[in-house]
Parts: sequence; C-alpha cells; structure tokens
Amino acid sequence: MSEIRLYVTTTETRANGVLDVMTFGFGEEDYAIATTEVDEKNDIWETSIYLMFEEEDDIRGRLAEMLAPDFSDLGIEREIIPEIDWIAKSLEGLTPVRAGRFLVHGSHDRDKVRLNDVAIEIDAGQAFGTGHHGTTAGCLEVIEEVVRARKVRNALDLGTGSGVLAIAVRKLLPVPVLATDIDPIAVRVAKENARRNQIVTGIDFRTAPGFHSTAFGDYGPFDLIIANILARPLIRMAPQLVNHLADGGSVILSGILAAQRWKVIAAYSGVGLSHVRTIWRNGWVTIHFRHGKG
Ligand code: SAH
Repeated sequence: MSEIRLYVTTTETRANGVLDVMTFGFGEEDYAIATTEVDEKNDIWETSIYLMFEEEDDIRGRLAEMLAPDFSDLGIEREIIPEIDWIAKSLEGLTPVRAGRFLVHGSHDRDKVRLNDVAIEIDAGQAFGTGHHGTTAGCLEVIEEVVRARKVRNALDLGTGSGVLAIAVRKLLPVPVLATDIDPIAVRVAKENARRNQIVTGIDFRTAPGFHSTAFGDYGPFDLIIANILARPLIRMAPQLVNHLADGGSVILSGILAAQRWKVIAAYSGVGLSHVRTIWRNGWVTIHFRHGKG
C-alpha cells in the first residue's frame, strides 16, 4: 500500500495537463497517478502520485523537473496516507447501497430491503467493504453478471475485508467459496458478517497473505476469482492468480485507479486472460477478465 501522496492543486484543465506530463514521465513504472476534484464550484483539482516513504526524494525531484517547463508555478504538496485508510473508507456514508440486484445495508436499514433484493447486511466496522466504495460496488455488479452468464462451481474472494463479496456469491449460488485476507481482524469480522447473513456453511474464511496457504490448492482451481486489493499487488500476483483459475474461469479485479487500468490489463493479458469489461465508479475501475477467449 502507498504511504505518501505527492500532489499539486490547480484548475481542472491544468490538473489534466499535469496528469499527462506525469503519466508520460513515470510511464513505465508502477505508480498510481490520478486527478481528483476538490471543489467543483471553484474549479479546484488535485493531481496526485502515490508512493512509499523511501521513494519520496527521488520522485519529488523528478516531478519538479517534469513540472518545470509548463507548471513551475505549482508547489508540490505532500500528504501521509494513514494506516487506517481502509477502515476510514468503510465508514463513509451509512445509507444502503444498490449494485445490480444486491442491496448492501446496515442493520439500522433492514426495512429498506425490497422483495426482489439480494440483501447483504454489513455494519461499518473494523474491516473494509460496506458497499459504499466504488470498488466493492463494481465487484458486486460483475459478480451478478458472471453468475447469470456462466456456470460457477466454486469461487475465491481474495482480500475479503468485511466478507461482503464472498457473502454476495454465496447468496446467489450454493457453491463452496474460499475467502482470504492478510488481516486476521478482517477474517474475524467477515466470519461474523457471514453468520449475521444466515450463512453458516459454504464459505471458508482463512488468514493468508496473497496465495500463501495450502487452502488455495485444496479448494482450487476456481471458476471465479475476485480480488479487490490494489493495482500493484494485483500485477505482482498475476502468474499465481492464473495458476489457481480453472479453464474458462472468470476473474474480477478491483482497487485499481483509472490511470492504472492499462497496466493491469497488460499484466493479465500477459498470463493468458482476455478483457471482458471495465466498470468505472468514482475514479476507480473494476475489470472483468476471462480465461482464454472472452
Ligand atoms: N473484498 C472487500 C474488501 C476489499 S479491501 C470489498 O470488496 O469491499 C482489501 C482487503 O484486502 C483488505 O481487507 C486488506 O486487508 C486485504 N489485503 C490487502 N493485501 C492483501 C494480500 N496481499 N493478501 C490478502 N489480503 C490482502
């Protein structure tokens, strides 16, 4: 995960100009670069690059050089990204979220569930995934699409957080689901959430970093793999992920900023997957791939 954000503050037009300069300048490297609207009325935007502490001096120097020709008036600002970012994000907004047929809601909103909804009850807490983040909602939408279109006999939810995506799969299909997270607290919360959603069997929750567990071999290969992590680890994991994918299987990846989309597509095309569809939500993308020909 990135630790620092370096950014400039300017107008929308110039923020896009800076984005072009940075995308070109850092082109071959794996940095997340993005523009964000801060204040629509006053046309205030930021263009940011996300990096680790030890890279700061180098990146700051190179960025200053890149900005020198046309944007030398813009100061480079810095923000430390708090460790608890995932949790803070999961507390954003408390209203129910619709994604396809799914309605993800807190316990205080049970009365909002309509007859044909596939309801998932998740209270904001110690794990990411209340449905409010564009990446979770994007995954939910594609899960429904995949399940409608194809036979799915088992599934993997890597980086399960609150368990929301594993619960979503299990609500649609009576198939075994393996759900893993690097964070033992998330695994505990996810188990509790499954129980609250009346799912007592069918999902095996395990603590594991990446693909480091025998559980993957025990349950795989998978017809459906969902991983909402972040672009960099996803790119790194591509060869292992595809090793655990069944022939003709589907992959749903998220946690990817729009500017990183092509890098992820390139990494997964390189291991034999074809791009089916990208969903865009609030600057984040969810990408759906198929094994072999889409
Ligand atoms: N699947 C949920 C949560 C996504 S947040 C949703 O879509 O809303 C990403 C989760 O991935 C976090 O809980 C984080 O702890 C976990 N994670 C990050 N890197 C990981 C890794 N290398 N292996 C397993 N889990 C990871």
